[in-house]
Amino acid sequence: MPDQTDDSKASATGRTVTCIRQADWLVAWNGERNAIEYLRGADMAFRDGAIIHVGGHFAGRVDHEIDGRRLLVVPGLINAHYHSTVTMIRKGVTQDACNYLLPAFYQNVNVLQSPAAVKAAATAFGIGRLLKGGTATLVDWTAPYDGWLDTLASSGARVYAAPFFTSAEWSVTDHRLLQYHWLADGGHDLFDKAQAVMEAAEAHPSGRLSAMVAPSELECTTPDLLRQSFELARQTGRPFHIHAAESAREFTEFVARHGMSPVQWAAEMGLLGPNSAIGHGIYLDHHSQLRWPTRRDLSLLAETGTTVTHCPTTFAMHGEGMEALSDYLAAGVNVALGNDTFPHDMLHEMKVAVLVSRLRSGQDFGRATHPSAQTWSLGAGEILRAATVGAADYLGRPDLGRLAPGCQADFFTVDLSHPDMMPVHDPLRSLIYCAGDRAVRDVYVGGRPVVAQGEVLSLDLGEHAATLAGAQEPMCAAVAGKPDAAGRSAAELWPLSLPIANPAP
Ligand SMILES: [Zn+2]
Repeated sequence: MPDQTDDSKASATGRTVTCIRQADWLVAWNGERNAIEYLRGADMAFRDGAIIHVGGHFAGRVDHEIDGRRLLVVPGLINAHYHSTVTMIRKGVTQDACNYLLPAFYQNVNVLQSPAAVKAAATAFGIGRLLKGGTATLVDWTAPYDGWLDTLASSGARVYAAPFFTSAEWSVTDHRLLQYHWLADGGHDLFDKAQAVMEAAEAHPSGRLSAMVAPSELECTTPDLLRQSFELARQTGRPFHIHAAESAREFTEFVARHGMSPVQWAAEMGLLGPNSAIGHGIYLDHHSQLRWPTRRDLSLLAETGTTVTHCPTTFAMHGEGMEALSDYLAAGVNVALGNDTFPHDMLHEMKVAVLVSRLRSGQDFGRATHPSAQTWSLGAGEILRAATVGAADYLGRPDLGRLAPGCQADFFTVDLSHPDMMPVHDPLRSLIYCAGDRAVRDVYVGGRPVVAQGEVLSLDLGEHAATLAGAQEPMCAAVAGKPDAAGRSAAELWPLSLPIANPAP
């Protein structure tokens, strides 16, 4: 447990000053240089949920001290792309499956359905697991259900609620043909309901919920609904988010419909710009798999200030990836990170982002140690910036993802004496490439501890995991007989990784 203040007077007035003393390492924000940088032996003080000091010795009144020796202090991570209710329930089922014609998400959405009764448990479990790994803020892009906002708020995280709406639904026949079923009203009823949820999120008494305007897919939203939803985002100042350039199949769909790439069509529709993001953004016109002749998409994203929310693990699982993240960043595209589905671990996502980029890049394999034309490379510092400042810039929140006076006291501490962190030459490299969330000790959101000594304080992870475990087998049993599963059972579609042998007599 973190140390608790015994200054009851300060607590009662909400003016408690907490100070981390002499942190061995601290990742600070330097506004003048527009850069994150290490500080050694630094103090960080916060009060009323906001940081009041980062730097040398803090001489002001302190009610509660935390010994920062043997600690690394890091800004709270921001997960900019997450779907809480479609995640946990599929864990262990579909990871090794491949459909050469269609990415898994087209068919899974109709074949494996999260039971309504466990949606709140899925949301709570996923967020709790993300908190444990240093995430402080997340975007939950989910079909709203009763109690969703209260579940988000009680998690202790800072959350952007992004209620799902769409103009069309997918179905897949016989695992081969993708069909779009356009809703009679173009999705306006879902949009109306989503607007009510956004307003409720912003009015939620927790004060930690915000709203995001997020039609589900570019390929599934009518031009009329796109215009109206983007206009709503601009009028309300809410960030805008839409899945686009996420599959080669989608790219060919846009070529067939409009004769251009998804990104170029989004530009024509006026959807690109600051505080606007495309989810995944893998299949830009330069992607080698597409063999498409234009080379405009990357510069369109950079010139308009559009963000790409990058979730490498879920795509790498099926052999897909950006070409390459380092090229996006070098071109000036703002990139934020997310985990999309599972695992619920942003530090893992950061490591995979670097590794996949080096595998897919033609020139950036790490920082060059010999004379070469390479002037920029993607490493631990750059990927941390994407997971903090990059996401905060997209959200229009200069007070998030940064440790500096005036910013929210959202941060986590890492135990430098953890065996996986040692020896500590560069603590971010030890954390991202080796230790992962095993070395995360305490996590604070708005100055309040939500994880202490690696244990989530705000919810019971074990209880929610048990609820999900009880729901997974009935979900798999319900697969057989669904039209798009060709009547095959889950055991036939997604066999176990090893056969179960009969025990010897
Ligand atoms: Zn997504």
